[in-house]
Amino acid sequence: MPDLISRQEALARGLKRYFTGVPCKRGHVAERYSSSPGCIKCISEDTARRAPAYRERQLMLARNRRAKNWESHRKYERDWVAKNPEKMKEYRRRQRAKLYQDPLRYEKAKANSRRRYAENREKRIKQALDWRTRNMERYRATRQEYNRCRREVAAQIAAERRRVFQADHPELASRIVSKQEALERGLKRYFTGKPCKNGHVAERVLLGGCVMCIRENGRLGYYRNLGKNKLRGSNYAGRKECARRYFERNREKIMRHDRESHRRGAYAGKVALKLLDQLGLTLDLPKGSTWYEKRRIALKILKNIGMEVLI
Ligand SMILES: [Zn+2]
Ligand SMILES: [Zn+2]
Repeated sequence: MPDLISRQEALARGLKRYFTGVPCKRGHVAERYSSSPGCIKCISEDTARRAPAYRERQLMLARNRRAKNWESHRKYERDWVAKNPEKMKEYRRRQRAKLYQDPLRYEKAKANSRRRYAENREKRIKQALDWRTRNMERYRATRQEYNRCRREVAAQIAAERRRVFQADHPELASRIVSKQEALERGLKRYFTGKPCKNGHVAERVLLGGCVMCIRENGRLGYYRNLGKNKLRGSNYAGRKECARRYFERNREKIMRHDRESHRRGAYAGKVALKLLDQLGLTLDLPKGSTWYEKRRIALKILKNIGMEVLI
């Protein structure tokens, strides 16, 4: 607590502040300036209250000054930027950080940047290419780093998929069949439980790789060829004509193949029916069923009980 002094005494002694211990009209018990009425807290409160308006006014004045001397202002700005690369870097970093904090502003900035790019697309592409030719080493290094990161992320995703899969399907641990084993046992597929390069934990075809990959690629292929397939569809007559010509050229081969497959089918059917007979199984088919129907059902039953007739 400062010493108690009256205003007259402070003025007489040439002091800048004095303290009476008496509360001011707003109830502060604080020092007062000799030069003006009101306590120091009142003065700082008033200043704080007026600050936003004051700041607004100062900014407006500055804007007006800049507008009046636009050319010289731009020159000053450019010179400053050229002279202070470090400060600019820091400034840009701070601005970016602010953007990331505020989703709305971020979206706005992104939209703006896209718009500017679209407006100057040719120029931007040329600039990028020029930069690349000038900085080939840096460009390559960046690409490599980018690819490395991508591979790393892919590996992480694959590991996560594998973890989830194994947690969900502990029973599959017993289903694991190595490639060698599959070859020895004459299986078409094997299953390692390890993820493929795309992170699928799935069976693999002996020669074709991961079945999920095959399925996805097939789907991709379908969509890639969608346009082409449509074209083919619209050219039905042409395609039919092509097929007819192919048949003309390969008549012998095609007829031989047909006879062969017919003969094989007939033979397989005979064997299947005989087998069923030997097993004591009778086909319960409606009267008037054709030989083809009998044959088809017989083969199906045998397949269901695990006996495939291979001809
Ligand atoms: Zn006061
Ligand atoms: Zn796969």
